[in-house]
Amino acid sequence: MSMYHQHRIKGRQQKYDNVEVFHIDESSLFKDAQEAKARDLISKYGFKTITAKLEDVFQETNSDFFTNVSIDDSAIEHKNKYPTSESPEKRSNALTHLFDQIKTYTAKEDMLDSIKAYLIVHAAQQNDCSVIAVGDSATRIAVKTIGYTSQGRGFSLPLDVGVSNRWFEGINIIRPMKDMLGKEVGYFNHCMGIDTAIVPTFTTRAPQKASIDRLTESLIVGLDRDFPSTISTIGRTAGKLEVTRKAIESPQCPLCGMPSEADSIEWRKMLSVSSLGDEEAMQNTTTPLIRAMCYSCQNTMRDVKPDAGLLPSFVNERSQNKAHNSQSLLKKQIESFLID
Ligand SMILES: [Zn+2]
Repeated sequence: MSMYHQHRIKGRQQKYDNVEVFHIDESSLFKDAQEAKARDLISKYGFKTITAKLEDVFQETNSDFFTNVSIDDSAIEHKNKYPTSESPEKRSNALTHLFDQIKTYTAKEDMLDSIKAYLIVHAAQQNDCSVIAVGDSATRIAVKTIGYTSQGRGFSLPLDVGVSNRWFEGINIIRPMKDMLGKEVGYFNHCMGIDTAIVPTFTTRAPQKASIDRLTESLIVGLDRDFPSTISTIGRTAGKLEVTRKAIESPQCPLCGMPSEADSIEWRKMLSVSSLGDEEAMQNTTTPLIRAMCYSCQNTMRDVKPDAGLLPSFVNERSQNKAHNSQSLLKKQIESFLID
């Protein structure tokens, strides 16, 4: 996550007095990640830096109730049945075991995105940050828009790629780099002599078809090479998407944290891409926890082997939080309308 001193709000510059940088250490999953170099780079700018490790999501929360949950059963039945991953080593092992048991790169990427999104929002809440500035470039937003749509994540897409996302209580997620192409950022860093630290992904050096995200990225970047307005056109179109009232009033998906459309399993029946056998198996094997997830996360869970061990405790915590913050979100939207 990148924090910036300022961003534009409706043509004027918004300045911030206090900026903190949140850094996620991914070395448990990616041994080649240049995490030490990343920390050194951040420290040069003198901002307060908060670092979390991916495996921190397996740390027990303060409440006795919220324990890490088993994938193949409901959260409530497994209350306190599984011991807390109390040591850093055990947490790291739980994380690597979970990802080892996910069958596809697409599902691995989605699980990683959900964990990182949780860590970012959690860090902001713990440190009283009301604004989160993420570093999504125009290229990244275009890839997300097409990739998420193809994965059935259209319900929450306006929040996933929008300029301003107030879905989480008391937090506004902004994308100040939404108009900058990925290659422009690269050129800028090169020309200004700004050093970078490389953190690999699951599909680094993998074939184009390794995952939906990787395939979408190669498609979008390739198209933009021949038709230079491709990325900006997708970005402008995505920017016009509005969050529906139905989405705002929906419960939170326990895994990705975004709105979860009701009856997604019923909706799945209407799709031709799933066979009848798949649907019956889904009905028979899914638990209340998985049924509470959004359509896209249900697809992710279908690629997680039953013996994958534990899901992070925040999944359980969210599944208990039925009300979420839809009322406060509605109130905020009305407030901004009145100011306009
Ligand atoms: Zn979800």
